Amino acid sequence: MIKRKIAVVGAGAAGCFCAVNIAEQNPDCEIFIYESGLMPLHKLSLTGGGRCNLTNTFESVESLSKVYPRGDKFLKSLFYVFDHEKTMEWFENHGVELYSQDDARVFPKSNKAMEIVENLLGKLRKYGVWIFTGKKVSEILKDEGGKFSLLFSSGEETLESFDSLIVTVGGMSRSPLMESLKKLGVEIIDPVPSLFSFKVKSNVLTSLMGASVENASVMIAGQKFRAEGGLLITHFGFSGPAVLKLSSYAARFLSENNYKCDILINWLNESESSVIEEINTLIKKNPQKTLQAVHPKNFTKRLWEFLLNKMEILPERKYCELGKKNVNKMVSVLTSDVYHVSGRGQFKDEFVTSGGVKLSSINPKTLESKTVENLFFAGEVLDIDAVTGGFNLQAAWTTGFAVAQNFI
Ligand SMILES: Cc1cc2nc3c(=O)[nH]c(=O)nc-3n(C[C@H](O)[C@H](O)[C@H](O)COP(=O)(O)OP(=O)(O)OC[C@H]3O[C@@H](n4cnc5c(N)ncnc54)[C@H](O)[C@@H]3O)c2cc1C
Repeated sequence: MIKRKIAVVGAGAAGCFCAVNIAEQNPDCEIFIYESGLMPLHKLSLTGGGRCNLTNTFESVESLSKVYPRGDKFLKSLFYVFDHEKTMEWFENHGVELYSQDDARVFPKSNKAMEIVENLLGKLRKYGVWIFTGKKVSEILKDEGGKFSLLFSSGEETLESFDSLIVTVGGMSRSPLMESLKKLGVEIIDPVPSLFSFKVKSNVLTSLMGASVENASVMIAGQKFRAEGGLLITHFGFSGPAVLKLSSYAARFLSENNYKCDILINWLNESESSVIEEINTLIKKNPQKTLQAVHPKNFTKRLWEFLLNKMEILPERKYCELGKKNVNKMVSVLTSDVYHVSGRGQFKDEFVTSGGVKLSSINPKTLESKTVENLFFAGEVLDIDAVTGGFNLQAAWTTGFAVAQNFI
């Protein structure tokens, strides 16, 4: 029997998961994976700080758009086919025990990303999937009979030709492969980074390195982008869940503005009226105490003194001596503290690309290109990306699984 030949470009989470699912359910396919790096699933081995936060229980997700700033609607229908619960079931049924943390993130019980890597590679070996490493695909060729072949950056070409091609190259940068896809008529949204910290030039602020608040909100001045959660002061500016989320929501805006903007921090993530109430309670309860002796919940002494300095209020002043003008100054700094972001910082734990293959140019059920028959896409190469918490890998599993269904 002549086997159907399928090529997968990129041995990452989406590509390998897709290949395992095709191979497992359709022995009539011969699968070839081409990977530019020297190790398949290398990035997966680094995820979650080496623990692999492979998905999320979605317990506290009110709306998909809050966790998938791009691709929420597209994923919604694919989740009916393969969502986080099916993903967890899949891994458990394939020999990986999982657990979920209180914060809803899901990890392998071993806390080892390598367990997932070895599990998937073991399955690819078992099903006889061919994996070629050190093969950077630079061009996709399609002959008149509709078969694909691949050209590598070394100049060689695949000896095989393929009935179908699945592109799973992750977050794309401008590359010959991207140009080749464009030449074939695939629409691509320019990739820009997402999930990064903010650089803020301030010696005073960076002297607070390591200070954090549990629940703040951060917004970009004059824009609708706003995120809440933990806020961390680093040696170069701000990081933590609120900032990472904001960098994701505003990824394109920030790129267009060269990563320069003003941000407003609400240190208590509360409305002005609640903050006034809280200050009045502090005044009532501690009239004779100094400002430096008692501080609102949420703050360390060091951070509170830094903020008092910004408010231009002496820390030695007593609460009963505050007066309306100072209360107003306090409210203003506590709810809308302005900082100028001068650039993009690093966030090494998780980093994704926003942009990629335009979702309207592919079939939402099959993930096949609308312009090139038998060309499919899965994973981060699509214009889908998420905030941190296991959502990015979930998108890779879901789209990888959905593509595999075409071959079953
Ligand atoms: C350090 C780090 C930690 C992360 N931790 C988490 C986490 O805990 N949870 C989570 O949900 N997400 C996490 N992410 C994001 C997550 O890893 C990605 O969203 C996910 O790996 C995307 O899977 P993918 O298969 O689409 O792409 P990738 O995993 O990036 O795989 C793409 C593969 O294609 C190969 N490739 C690229 N171009 C070519 C080419 N031209 N020819 C051949 N091969 C090519 C690459 O070498 C790569 O192996 C993390 C990201 C980073 C960087």
